Amino acid sequence: MRVLAEYGREDIAIVYLGETSKGSFVEFVEALQPPFPISEKWVLIVSTLKGCPVRCKMCDAGGYYEGVLDEDEIMEQIQYMVERRFPDGKVSSKKFKIQFARVGEPALNENVLTVLEKLSDYRNLIPCISTVAPASCENFFERLRLIKDEHYRGRFQLQFSVHSTDEEQRNQLMPVRKWSLEQIAEYGEKFVKENDRKITLNFAVSEESILDAGKILKIFSKEKFLVKVTPVNPTYSAQRSGLKSDVDVTTGMPIKHRKFVEELKDNGFEVILSVGHLEENKIGSNCGMYIRRYLSERLENPCAYTYLNAKVRSS
Ligand code: SF4
Repeated sequence: MRVLAEYGREDIAIVYLGETSKGSFVEFVEALQPPFPISEKWVLIVSTLKGCPVRCKMCDAGGYYEGVLDEDEIMEQIQYMVERRFPDGKVSSKKFKIQFARVGEPALNENVLTVLEKLSDYRNLIPCISTVAPASCENFFERLRLIKDEHYRGRFQLQFSVHSTDEEQRNQLMPVRKWSLEQIAEYGEKFVKENDRKITLNFAVSEESILDAGKILKIFSKEKFLVKVTPVNPTYSAQRSGLKSDVDVTTGMPIKHRKFVEELKDNGFEVILSVGHLEENKIGSNCGMYIRRYLSERLENPCAYTYLNAKVRSS
């Protein structure tokens, strides 16, 4: 891995731009969760594809697509960040999380599964797959379930990006053939076993979101699923698509869609309100952000990517 540039803050998040040993351009991230020090929690976010063929309306990574990364190219991102912080290769953070969620839909690349198997020696690792659940990836999801059972019982985080309870709106937001809510629920019933973490249903809530708590309560079991509400980050794509975040960033609570959260909670469904550090938008390390998009377009965006004018280091 040859790191070409890095942007961000050591105490919050750093985005690395690199070239793999096979010559692919990649972005990867390491993040802390203040006030926790690295000894408590350390999060790595790696790319799985070279760009992404899915064009989610809130994500800057969609559009460019040059193919899958092989297992070495995914491992190189992880190894670079591990060796930088832990030269002996032993990650001593109590919670060590790797999210396969920077650039690319992970279910479109079976090499991700090989990487998960390779990483199973890290006994403190919490792997996290975040997916829109593309159709025709049944093999990926079946193998994922087996790998979780063999290596990661009780510490695997699976997240489905759902964003709307209306299938037509889901198709507009994530324009790829994918599982229906019922198919996600069916898979989750098999996936989550005793002591496993619940599956997260992620909703980046905009003012225009169609959110029906009754539908969630009817389709998903509260024993196996939880809902996570996040803001729509200020990406170029979200702005172009006219998606206005509905989340109050001081409380994490939706404004127009407050009832969605209240109804779920009133019925015993677990709901997490997750805002994260707003500085991450400026660094460009947040969900849906893609430095390459900024570098190619150079469009003004006062809410995002402002750290790129003062990068930490380049070579
Ligand atoms: S959100 Fe994920 S699947 Fe959608 S365009 Fe971005 S990287 Fe691809």
